Amino acid sequence: MEKVLWNGKIVNKDDVRISIDDRAFHFGDGVYEVVRVYDGELYLAEGHMKRLYDSARKIGIQLELAPDEILASLVELKEATDLIDGTIYVQVSRGEWPRNHAFPDKAVVPQMVGFTKEAKRPLEQMKSGVKATIIEDTRWLHCDIKSISLLGNVLAKQKAVEAGCFESIQHRNGVVTEGSSTNVFIVKGGTVYTHPADHLILNGITRQRIIELGRQEGLDIQEVAFTTDELLQADEVFVAGTTVEVMPVIQVDDKKYSDQPGPITLKLQSLLFEDIAKLASIKS
Ligand SMILES: *Cc1c(COP(=O)(O)O)cnc(C)c1O
Repeated sequence: MEKVLWNGKIVNKDDVRISIDDRAFHFGDGVYEVVRVYDGELYLAEGHMKRLYDSARKIGIQLELAPDEILASLVELKEATDLIDGTIYVQVSRGEWPRNHAFPDKAVVPQMVGFTKEAKRPLEQMKSGVKATIIEDTRWLHCDIKSISLLGNVLAKQKAVEAGCFESIQHRNGVVTEGSSTNVFIVKGGTVYTHPADHLILNGITRQRIIELGRQEGLDIQEVAFTTDELLQADEVFVAGTTVEVMPVIQVDDKKYSDQPGPITLKLQSLLFEDIAKLASIKS
């Protein structure tokens, strides 16, 4: 029987009892995180825990466990499921209460669930590059919260799939924000650009690490927004996230950039990989 995490305990999946009155069902009222595990080690887990707290605080959910306690239960879950390479998903909903938009009684306890999934690094696509399509960003204006209300992101990803693409690149009034579940970067004249971490994007842990690692190597990385025209005139494009790492984009709609990923994209890809390899004994 698959082991999962439920309010700090490791239990059999079938033993979890979540009410249909849980606000995750009624309203998508909750927040989540996805942590990558490489060779049995959690990558950038502290950053994910901090963001889980920030997301919860922004919507007024008071987490019962401290960040290091949640982290400890994720490690326990990883062990219980024998996860070596994959992801740990954890979500917290506001809890169970008869359906009513306003927050429930203060005594209502948030419900935390977590599960693991085996996943390989998408090495082939990371090497060859992928396609993306530009769509309008129709999401709400609190994209900095990693909310489980993901209908906008779901529709965005479905558009990518229907267009035969890996990801949708969203824009608001012509300004590129982010992908459906990734952050978007372009390279132009040797400088790397990505949307600033404000309410219009989710500030990816991978995004933050790429910026740090790249700047340490002396790359010019600017948190400056760019337009869809600038995207189409860029030298290189890539998207980034926990499961896709640095994923080169070699085509956006009809615009083909090159036959293979660009040099700065590949440089950042290998910097991130070296960072991962420091904690895990993996080979590319
Ligand atoms: C999770 C997510 C990302 C990527 O964040 P990582 O922490 O790097 O995985 C980007 N955009 C959205 C909308 C996301 O939900």
